[in-house]
Amino acid sequence: MLDVLIAGAGPVGLWLAAELRLHGVEVTVVERRAAPDGRSRAVGMQAGTLDTFATRGLAQRFIERGNPVPTGHFGAATTRLDFSTVGAVHPFMLALGQSVTEQLLEEHAVAVGARVQRGEEVVSLTQGPDAVEVVVRSGRSHRTVRARWVVGCDGTRSAVRQAAGIDFPGQDTTLTGWLADVELDDPPTAPLSATGPAGSFLVAPIGDGVHRLAGLSTATMHRGAGEPLTLEEVREQTRALLGRDLAIRNPRWLSRYGNATRQAARYRDGRVLVAGDAAHMFFPAGGQGMNVGIQDATNLGWKLAATLQGRAPDGLLDSYDTERRPAGRAVIDNTRAQLALFAAASPEQIALREVWSAALAEPRTNRQWARRIAGFDDPLPADAAPGAHPLDGTRLAGLALDTAEAPTAHPLMHHGRPLLLDLGGTRTPCSAGGVEQRAATVDTEASDGIWRDVTAVLIRPDARIAWAGTDTDPQRRAAKCRTALRTLCR
Ligand SMILES: Cc1cc2nc3c(=O)[nH]c(=O)nc-3n(C[C@H](O)[C@H](O)[C@H](O)COP(=O)(O)OP(=O)(O)OC[C@H]3O[C@@H](n4cnc5c(N)ncnc54)[C@H](O)[C@@H]3O)c2cc1C
Repeated sequence: MLDVLIAGAGPVGLWLAAELRLHGVEVTVVERRAAPDGRSRAVGMQAGTLDTFATRGLAQRFIERGNPVPTGHFGAATTRLDFSTVGAVHPFMLALGQSVTEQLLEEHAVAVGARVQRGEEVVSLTQGPDAVEVVVRSGRSHRTVRARWVVGCDGTRSAVRQAAGIDFPGQDTTLTGWLADVELDDPPTAPLSATGPAGSFLVAPIGDGVHRLAGLSTATMHRGAGEPLTLEEVREQTRALLGRDLAIRNPRWLSRYGNATRQAARYRDGRVLVAGDAAHMFFPAGGQGMNVGIQDATNLGWKLAATLQGRAPDGLLDSYDTERRPAGRAVIDNTRAQLALFAAASPEQIALREVWSAALAEPRTNRQWARRIAGFDDPLPADAAPGAHPLDGTRLAGLALDTAEAPTAHPLMHHGRPLLLDLGGTRTPCSAGGVEQRAATVDTEASDGIWRDVTAVLIRPDARIAWAGTDTDPQRRAAKCRTALRTLCR
């Protein structure tokens, strides 16, 4: 019997497989497609995802293949979001095609021991008390696989979600945008965006001499997602939105995409879980879908491994739903708000976009939204106990250490276990099996001020702060640390 069967070798399924392998879990990914999809839906990897990859020592291999973009947009507002303020180790968005991201993730997952089986589709499943029986189709043949846990990372139409009876309420498409992956004789030298009464428009290089043109044109936004997009329409829209047509040629992919918006009513049903697009779908505004899905997988991996191996305290696995559903909801809300700004057509709506752009010029507002889009500011669950320290429950950011070996905490987290970091010069006499304990000093010049009084910090494998202590007395500190540890391990 398998420990975990994952349906779908998209970015989320592949990353989850690799995270489970960190803990020695036997994992098989079954993927319906016989070969990888060469087209890239996502072209933006956020700083929060790079930060996660940095906790496993992998960020550089993605950065080498992409183009760093230091700013982003919210709803095509003219004031850009400044990612240098978010406290990330790699403070930019990486322009990188999803097909390359998937290739690198698959190489990593296979290298750490995950099995990826292509040309195999999950068709149905039945849950029992100790295992799930999954029917997998391969060509014309069907076979039954038994697994202790099943995770549906199988996209918006998730067969796993449907077979588990998890509702996916929301709305169908009412507006569409369009994309064209093309070569340009007259390419812009930097990512470019334009907004006006005709709509909103973005151009960014995505590698191999190809540019992504993506737009929402008020004249065509009511066309159906399935309506074909012609190169002539792309030229027309580009002229209308930008004033020139960029000498477009050699299209690789022309498509429309819609604003269908849905979220799974729960992310777990018994021994079945859902993550990524199987759990949420929304208009692709600001480059978030793949990124939020990778964060789902990062949150789930260590919790599912601990549950399988009998190390999890009560409720740990359920906290996947209570933490990640609000995060998905928040992305849904911000993409809806962005779509309202993209689709601004009336003088009142256009004025709203201008007012919003002016608001983003205020550094605190800009930082708040840069952190949100970059993936550093997911909301805490509504019922989360208020932390004693403002860092409690937040995502690790803005901490620089005073050592050459580990200038941040990230290199100390490659093992995927909780990290107890002593920062106050005295050891916290508190440990538990599987927790890594290290000492370091804070580089106060390079760190955010909030770290100044912290004497010890317990960081979860997904880089959330379980507890930040300011006590200088080692015994008192240890008592608080033990309370926090009980929420992570048995
Ligand atoms: C135009 C556009 C632009 C986008 N841009 C961005 C961006 O810049 N940044 C960003 O973060 N996100 C972006 N997104 C969203 C992003 O592409 C998705 O959120 C992301 O692909 C979700 O990853 P996933 O692994 O959850 O699902 P998917 O990538 O959909 O992967 C699911 C996999 O499961 C397989 N599968 C399906 N059913 C079965 C089955 N029954 N059995 C086995 N396998 C199955 C599929 O073949 C597929 O390989 C964009 C989306 C669109 C449409």
